[in-house]
Amino acid sequence: MKAMLLNRITDLSVDREPLTMASVPDPLPARNEILVQVSACGVCHTELDEIEGRTPPPRLPVIPGHQVVGTVVERGKGAGLFQTGDRVGIGWIHSSCGTCGFCRRSLENLCPGFEATGRDVDGGYATLMTVPERFAYRIPSAFSDSEAAPLLCAGAIGYRSLRLAGIEDGERLGLTGFGASAHLVLKMARHKYPNTDVFVFARGEKERSFARDLGAVWTGDMEDAAPAKLHAIIDTTPVYKPVVEALKNLESGGRIIINAIRKESVDRDYLLNLEYPTHLWMEKEIKSVANVARRDISEFLELAAQVPIRPEYQEFPLKDANRALMELKERKIRGAKVLRMDDP
Ligand SMILES: [Zn+2]
Ligand SMILES: [Zn+2]
Repeated sequence: MKAMLLNRITDLSVDREPLTMASVPDPLPARNEILVQVSACGVCHTELDEIEGRTPPPRLPVIPGHQVVGTVVERGKGAGLFQTGDRVGIGWIHSSCGTCGFCRRSLENLCPGFEATGRDVDGGYATLMTVPERFAYRIPSAFSDSEAAPLLCAGAIGYRSLRLAGIEDGERLGLTGFGASAHLVLKMARHKYPNTDVFVFARGEKERSFARDLGAVWTGDMEDAAPAKLHAIIDTTPVYKPVVEALKNLESGGRIIINAIRKESVDRDYLLNLEYPTHLWMEKEIKSVANVARRDISEFLELAAQVPIRPEYQEFPLKDANRALMELKERKIRGAKVLRMDDP
């Protein structure tokens, strides 16, 4: 099969072609696994974190990619959840042990044996990939392959962050940062909690006006005070200042959900501004979102078809994966970026 391989951890500001196209042996589905002919794979910021070493793959080379849509072409021994020809999606969670306390409580995202697609095992920047069938999901017919791919990561993790926010309809929700993931959260919050007012903190006026267009009742800058205290705030920024500033906007007993795989260290000193009475007293909570569980992906896909949530996307042939990654790095964002395998 054809695949784009990551061979080295590197600095993308000087090394603009971290992946190389290669012909590698077709993977074989092991017990309870399926072999998937990949048609589309989304390109995610987490790939930049892997390539630049912020969340490095344990072994190299590895095939990146964790927003995969394709067709089942073969079933390993014991696999019976799908037929050959079924369309499936694969997300960031590739597998977990299935027996630990976390797995037994549907918290397989926290399993010590958690393996990430495209980091710990080969992912979808390839024409074929294998996955344990329990970690593949049916894609609602409302979506094309390229529309579905970006939903599998930002959408599903956004869904988990909204669930962890634990609000009830009518409680006030804040969002700090307003990129791809936050705008999906705003759309799903408006659908799931129609009486909830959403407040958006973003640096740029363009993002703020986009948030108002999508139904935010108030927008402001990161250090602004919201006109009311908020029951929960979801942070999707890569830095610390928005978290500290958000704590002062929280209602008593409220919580901040940090939806970021890593925080950059540029403004770590900002944490020294934390004052216990203002920012933490009155049972305020800070919680992170780690990975994604299976139910987040399957529930989110259903919800996305109902709303509906249709991501804008831009397609690239597989061989142009480096260009897609660099455009993401340089924030040339025109919707989500999706690799197509039709003509690798
Ligand atoms: Zn991702
Ligand atoms: Zn486990």
